[in-house]
Amino acid sequence: MKVSVDQEKCCAAGTCAMVAPGVFDQRDEDGIVVLLLSEPPADLHDSVREAASVCPAMAIHLSEDA
Ligand code: SF4
Repeated sequence: MKVSVDQEKCCAAGTCAMVAPGVFDQRDEDGIVVLLLSEPPADLHDSVREAASVCPAMAIHLSEDA
């Protein structure tokens, strides 16, 4: 799995960092998403999928073929 985030779309809701804190963080100054792991290990895939599905800005993109 490969993960990418679109910081232009992110509205700093922070849901991703709560659902998958090992993969997503937020900038201190404005709360915009920071990607910590672009290729998370298998045990984090479910939480990454959940984070992508609950992101209100649809700013998290997954590629499952990797
Ligand atoms: S859930 Fe979406 S909008 Fe909220 S911080 Fe994460 S990427 Fe940004």
